[in-house]
Amino acid sequence: MSWLESQARLALQLQERKQQSLYRSRRVIDSAQDVILSVNGKQVLNFCSNDYLGLANHPDVISAFKKGADQFGVGSGSAHLVTGHHAAHHELEQQLAEFVGRPRVLLYSTGYMANLGVVTALLSKNDCIFEDKLNHASLFDAGQLSSATFKRYFHNDISNLKSKLASTVSDSQPQNKLIVSDGVFSMDGDVVALDKMIGVARQHDAAILIDDAHGLGVTGKTGRGTLEEYNASIDDVAILMGTLGKAFGTFGAFIAGSDTVIETLIQQSRSYIYTTALPPAVASATLASLKLVVTEQWRREQLQQRITQFKVGAKQIGLNLMPSDTAIQPLLIGSSEQAMKMSELLEQKGILISAIRPPTVPNNTARLRITFSANHSKEHVEQLLSALELVLLERQQHAY
Ligand SMILES: *Cc1c(COP(=O)(O)O)cnc(C)c1O
Repeated sequence: MSWLESQARLALQLQERKQQSLYRSRRVIDSAQDVILSVNGKQVLNFCSNDYLGLANHPDVISAFKKGADQFGVGSGSAHLVTGHHAAHHELEQQLAEFVGRPRVLLYSTGYMANLGVVTALLSKNDCIFEDKLNHASLFDAGQLSSATFKRYFHNDISNLKSKLASTVSDSQPQNKLIVSDGVFSMDGDVVALDKMIGVARQHDAAILIDDAHGLGVTGKTGRGTLEEYNASIDDVAILMGTLGKAFGTFGAFIAGSDTVIETLIQQSRSYIYTTALPPAVASATLASLKLVVTEQWRREQLQQRITQFKVGAKQIGLNLMPSDTAIQPLLIGSSEQAMKMSELLEQKGILISAIRPPTVPNNTARLRITFSANHSKEHVEQLLSALELVLLERQQHAY
């Protein structure tokens, strides 16, 4: 096929995507990230960001970022192993390790890269990786790239995981077995059945990696996330991945684990070694947001109040919410076309909720992924509920 022909084919595929309501496009945001956003000059109430604690636009975080830039400049200059590893990165690694209660932490530029980097560095051909069917895309990509034998188990179904582990022993005797799961599932908001998973992992000599992108800072009594909720030690969950672009309101990610794991990553994790270190001022900003995550318990309390307010209100107006107690409260729609339509109608009413469609979620499970922030007020949630009620009514009346 010539380049011209393949371009024509791509154009056709784009067209098909549009017809199936699967086309993705970007909004241009012309304000800071917060609960009120300006989209093309129009103000909307934002119910779809991952800034759960409202720190992305916090004055302390902004001023730490500016100070960091004054001290370190903007670019890090090179990879961590050359001259890119600045004092702010180093300090942040130490403070994060203390925060999560693990011996060491290694910063990565993004969560996507952390997942690729840790799985590929620790697993090879004779190993086996077990993943929840609803894991984040980056965890699947990591598993594929690792060349380990790849097995998926049904969502949060630990007896299914158990039988996959059992059958693996008999067929190939892998060296390392790694179970990998989201802590809080990113598109569903439910939480991994970690206590059962730990038991099954013990029986089968498997290690566990938890990606707690949506739990860290938010869940657990003091914001230490899913592992805090289950009181899971490093002997229970060997590796923890956390991201800094969600509840922490900044950017970047980390792996927490034993000294041996972290040193191994420094030696052979390709997405750590072969990329420029994140700007040190971002690490300075994250140090400020970490302080807020630790000290301002009221943010988690306020967030929890909004979640409860929404769930109670949603029940009253008969919304079909998915089973979640976290800040991610998806409203299952099913058809991508209808989910898109509802998202558009909500935006016309000043409420921003993006429609999540396949392949991000399984076929016929398009949804409105509603998320909450500690910065949302009671009135904001009331506005959300009345807009949802109106849009659902219109949907019934016009049967779209
Ligand atoms: C967002 C997310 C990532 C990726 O993190 P980035 O820092 O955005 O690259 C990984 N895993 C999960 C579960 C996520 O939600």
